[in-house]
Amino acid sequence: MNSELTTPVRRIVVLGGGSAGWLTAATLAAELGGAASGALQITLIESPDVPAIGVGEGSWPTMRATLHRIGLSEVDLIRECDAAFKQGSRFDGWLHGGAGDRYFHPFTLPHGFGEADLAGAWLQGGGAQAFAESVCPQPHLCDSGLAPKQTTTPEFAAVVNYGYHFDAVKLGHLLRRHATTALGVCHIVDHFTAVRSHENGDIAALATREHGDLEGDLFIDCTGLACLLLGEHFGVGLRSVKGVLFNDSALAVQVPHADEQVPLASATIATAHAEGWTWDIALPTRRGVGLVYASSHTDDVVAERALRAYLRRSGAPEVETMPRRIRFNPGYRERFWHRNCVAVGLAAGFIEPLEASALALVELSAAFIRDEMPANRADMDIVAKRFNEAFAYRWSRIIDFLKLHYALSRREDTDYWRDHRAAASQPASLHELLQLWAHRAPSRNDFYRVEEVFPAASYQYVLYGMQFKTATRALHPDRLAAAQSRMKDVATITKRLLGGLPRHRDLVQHLRAHGMPAA
Ligand SMILES: Cc1cc2nc3c(=O)[nH]c(=O)nc-3n(C[C@H](O)[C@H](O)[C@H](O)COP(=O)(O)OP(=O)(O)OC[C@H]3O[C@@H](n4cnc5c(N)ncnc54)[C@H](O)[C@@H]3O)c2cc1C
Repeated sequence: MNSELTTPVRRIVVLGGGSAGWLTAATLAAELGGAASGALQITLIESPDVPAIGVGEGSWPTMRATLHRIGLSEVDLIRECDAAFKQGSRFDGWLHGGAGDRYFHPFTLPHGFGEADLAGAWLQGGGAQAFAESVCPQPHLCDSGLAPKQTTTPEFAAVVNYGYHFDAVKLGHLLRRHATTALGVCHIVDHFTAVRSHENGDIAALATREHGDLEGDLFIDCTGLACLLLGEHFGVGLRSVKGVLFNDSALAVQVPHADEQVPLASATIATAHAEGWTWDIALPTRRGVGLVYASSHTDDVVAERALRAYLRRSGAPEVETMPRRIRFNPGYRERFWHRNCVAVGLAAGFIEPLEASALALVELSAAFIRDEMPANRADMDIVAKRFNEAFAYRWSRIIDFLKLHYALSRREDTDYWRDHRAAASQPASLHELLQLWAHRAPSRNDFYRVEEVFPAASYQYVLYGMQFKTATRALHPDRLAAAQSRMKDVATITKRLLGGLPRHRDLVQHLRAHGMPAA
C-alpha cells in the first residue's frame, strides 16, 4: 500500500472559531488529544477579521452530555454565558393565529413513551385537554415559571429534561478558554488565504497571512456560511431546500427585560406572524428576539415593522438600535466529508432556526468524527462515506420535521402560509408519513435509527399540538387502561413538581451566587 495512505492521522486543523469550531475542537481534544503517544494535535485557526455569527442561543438536552464530556462545569456555563434552562419550545399562533392558539413541544418524552400508547388513548378520549399537557408535566412547569431541577440537584442532572439558553458570543469565549487552557488546543488567530494541495488533490496545508502554511492530515471546515474549504475550494455544492422551506432571512435584536424580576421563560417562544415567525429567548440578563422570514414573500421593511410590533406587544422597551439582518440560503451540502476535509456547523448547511437543531448537529458531527477518527488516509474514505450517509439522512429528517410545522397550519392571512402548505412544496417522505398518521399515531417504527434527531414523540407533540386528526382503531381495553393509568400518573407527578420545584429565575440567581453540587 502507498505509504501516504498508511501514514497515521495525527494533525487536525479546525478552520473557524465560532460555536462549531470550538465545540468540535474541544470534543476531539478532550478524548483524543493530550500528551500520550499517538494523541492528536489539534489546532484551531480563527480570523481576526471575520466575527462568529453571534446567534444560536437555544440548545438541546444533548448539550449537557457534550459539555460534561469535554469537562466544562455547568455552573461556569450559567455564570459566564448568562445561561438559563430551556425545557422545550412553545408555539404560539401556528394553527390559525386566533385566541388560545398555542402548544408545547417539551424536551421530556410522554410519560411511559414506548411502553403505553398514550397518543392512542388521548385520541380515543377525544383530546379534551391539550396533548402535551395530558402526557407530560413539563408544559405545566413552563407555564408556572418553574425550573427543571432543584438547587440541590447535581450539575447536569435533571428532574425533568432540559437544555440551555445562552449568550452565543459568551459561549464561544468559554469554549475557547477551556479548549486552550484545559484541553491543549493550539489557537491561531490569523486569516486563512489559500489552500496548498497534495498532488492527489487532498489538502496539504492552509496558507495564512502571518503564520505561513499550517499543515495537517484532516481539515475541519467550520468557516460558517462561507464554507471556504468544502464549498469554495472543493466546489461541493449546496443542496437548496428553498422550494420546501422558504425562509432565507432573519432580523435579530437583543432587548432588556421589562423589569428584572419578570418570570424567566424556560421555553423558546416561537410565535407565528403573517410575515414569518419570531423566536424569543430569555436569558437572565436580557432577551434575544428575532424574526425569520422569506425574502420571496416579505420585504425587509415590512419584516422590521413586524418585529418591532411583536417587541411592543411583548412588553419590551422601545429599541433604538437597528436589528441585525442575516441572510442565508436554506440547504445542506451535497457531501459533508470530501477527501481529507469535513464540514461542521453552518459550513455543512443551515435550514432555519425553528426547533434549534443546528448546534445539536454540530454535537453529533463532532462526536462522529471523534468516535470514528480514521487511523490513516486509507480508512478516511470509508469513514467519509459513512459520515455522508448518516448526515444526509439526518438533514432529510430535519427538513421533514420543520416542514411539518408549516404544512399543518391553517393560517390564511398571507401567501407565505398558503404556499407553505401547498402540496408541491411538501417532501414526498413527509406526505407519506402524514398519510399513515391519518390512521395511526407516529411510532418508533417510523424513526428507528440510533440517535434520530427527532424521535416519534416530537412528531406527536407537533401533530397533536396542531390538532391533526388521526382516526385510530379503538385500543384493546387492557392497553387503554394502561395508557390511562399513565395519564393519571402525569397529573399526580405534575402536582408534586408544581409544589417542589423552584422558580426558574430564583434557581438561576441561586446558581450564579452559590454554584451547585458537582456531577
Ligand atoms: C438567525 C439564526 C438563528 C439561529 N438560532 C439557532 C438556535 O437557536 N439554536 C441552534 O442550535 N442554532 C441556531 N443557529 C445556528 C447557529 O448560529 C450556528 O450553528 C452556530 O453558531 C455555529 O456557527 P459556525 O461556528 O458554524 O459559524 P460562525 O459562527 O459563522 O463561525 C465562522 C468562523 O469562521 C471563521 N472564518 C471565516 N473566514 C475565515 C478565514 N478566511 N480565515 C480564518 N477563519 C475564518 C470566523 O472567524 C469564525 O470564527 C441560528 C442561526 C441563525 C442564522
